[in-house]
Amino acid sequence: MADTWMTDITHFLDEDGEMITEPVQAKVLGEYFASIVLMASFPDPDFPPEYSVYCRRRPKRKPCLEKIAGWVEPDSDDIYWICPKCQDKGRISNWRGTIWDMSDFVDVVH
Ligand SMILES: [Zn+2]
Repeated sequence: MADTWMTDITHFLDEDGEMITEPVQAKVLGEYFASIVLMASFPDPDFPPEYSVYCRRRPKRKPCLEKIAGWVEPDSDDIYWICPKCQDKGRISNWRGTIWDMSDFVDVVH
């Protein structure tokens, strides 16, 4: 059974609210979680395809690359995400109000 990633997204932010740049490993992970926040907080379930997040795990050294499913859990207001293929999963807290929070995104085109 895979572990659940428990992520406080603010741990990946510097004091200006921007993504940290080092250590590089943390930055790479932070960008991954940030893209999940963008996707899961997008107000329309039919989010644009460029928001899709692909699994970064490499079970048996083969990239999984399955589309991650992400959503906001109404009770806790945390973001939950799971890879339907390899079952990598996690939970992201403190995402509201970050630069990746799309929940009050208004599409100005329409
Ligand atoms: Zn996967």
